Amino acid sequence: MEKWQTKETLMYLLSRLVEHQSITGSYPEVALAEYIHLQLQDLDYFKDNPQMLALHPTSDGRSFVTGLIKNGTAKKTVILISHFDVVDVEDYGQFKNLAFSPYDLTEEVYKNLDKMPLEVQNDLETGEWVFGRGVMDMKAGIALQMSMLEKASSGEFEGNILFLTVPDEEANSLGMIEAVPVLVEMAKQHNLTYTACLNSEPVFTNYPGDQNLYLYSGSIGKLLPGFFCYGQETHVGEPFSGLNANYMAAEVTKELELNADFCEVVDGEVTPPPTNLMQKDLKEGYSVQIPHVGVTLFNVLGMESSIQQITDKLMKAVKTAARRIEHHYLEKATAFSMLQSYVPEPFKVNVLTYEQLHQRAVTLFGEAEIKRRQDYISANFKDLGDRDLSTRMVFDLAALCKDDGPMIILFYNPPFYPAVSSRHDPFIQETIQRVMNYSDEKHNVKLKPQHYFPGLSDLSFVGLERTKETIQPLMSNMPLYGQSYTLPLEALEQLKVPVMNLGPMGRDAHKWTERLELTYSFETLHEMLPYTIKQLLR
Ligand SMILES: [Zn+2]
Repeated sequence: MEKWQTKETLMYLLSRLVEHQSITGSYPEVALAEYIHLQLQDLDYFKDNPQMLALHPTSDGRSFVTGLIKNGTAKKTVILISHFDVVDVEDYGQFKNLAFSPYDLTEEVYKNLDKMPLEVQNDLETGEWVFGRGVMDMKAGIALQMSMLEKASSGEFEGNILFLTVPDEEANSLGMIEAVPVLVEMAKQHNLTYTACLNSEPVFTNYPGDQNLYLYSGSIGKLLPGFFCYGQETHVGEPFSGLNANYMAAEVTKELELNADFCEVVDGEVTPPPTNLMQKDLKEGYSVQIPHVGVTLFNVLGMESSIQQITDKLMKAVKTAARRIEHHYLEKATAFSMLQSYVPEPFKVNVLTYEQLHQRAVTLFGEAEIKRRQDYISANFKDLGDRDLSTRMVFDLAALCKDDGPMIILFYNPPFYPAVSSRHDPFIQETIQRVMNYSDEKHNVKLKPQHYFPGLSDLSFVGLERTKETIQPLMSNMPLYGQSYTLPLEALEQLKVPVMNLGPMGRDAHKWTERLELTYSFETLHEMLPYTIKQLLR
């Protein structure tokens, strides 16, 4: 009997997946991997070949699932990837306790329709929608891929299907990063040639009201630079003897926030400009000493720029901010000197990369001592989380080099997503054309091709476009690299697989109004996916 081939059974599977409250890092995230593994055991192929279905532990005790369905001696293999973690539900307000019960939450939304945001009301008039955390991002995609695996089990495809579903995509993508060497190993062990990696992340809107259905051939890249501002402490009664880190961070933020110089344009696709994700001083309690250390963190997206190019651009922007800080200080000090006999002395604000700061600290205190200090921090302050832990490590080095201050230090935090795109891959481009024609002719659905999926995805780790040497500027400027964060560079270089993303239709990922349109997702797309896979196996 078929398990997941109708809209109703897919909806049921979706609700079972959503009921596992698999918020990134929570225990149900582990449980859901086991549930998916358990469900797939029912497929005939895995009953006959149980060794082809596996739960793999990650280094931090979570799990990811692989299921390989081989078709005779065929080598061509399509990888289907998905993530089963979701973001938290703090945004649900009074609906929080229903966030993981899609049937009940949907009923509640329909009951209170007049109180819903206008876009939700409009959507509900024209389609069949279901609500719940993860319905769109991306448990519907998992349900569809499980359905494709069931088809493979009954011999639908000429080649092989490798199903992979991972945790932690919404945080650091540890699941996918650790799955990369496993994929490389499986290719050797089972003699597989990966023709493509197909993700089914949902369609994201590019602007409010965007109704396009996108078909992606890549995924946008992301860096998370931090700017550590080391000023100079002083008492509020004598402010011109010091430099306030909150003011320094404010100038850096002013320079970077929404700065269109960082927007890349590729074939009419534009990366959103940088925006701030966190800004704070590191003063722990109130006192009349000015905050002299602070940090500001930015989301920076990219498509074709190298890490080095982005680093250079960031350094240039921060140097501009540094000159402005110096100028502002001198201007204010000069004004103050009119009121009181005092000769203003200009400040020089140094701008360094983390690598330069580290080198300076090693010169002053020796390699062994610096390593000891860094190991100590990373062993004893894990609870801070990756971002604050990185800041702490920079703070320690900056304090050792305090005579070089005031200074601003650029450093990188996890997560990192390399941009990937198969836009120059003729096989993928031809496939996209065929899928577009098919969806138009068969369903009267006009798919729109887009090079880069804008929502960040695990495809980033499947088709590393550049050599591993180009990652060097990231590694040497990331305090946590080699501590709690590493990339399997050798495996990443070996796993160069063309990428595509064709997923369901939803709205408002990461908002409480997250919703999935059922007719397109579980009828139209469900019919189009086998065609797409067959094309990728051709
Ligand atoms: Zn997602």
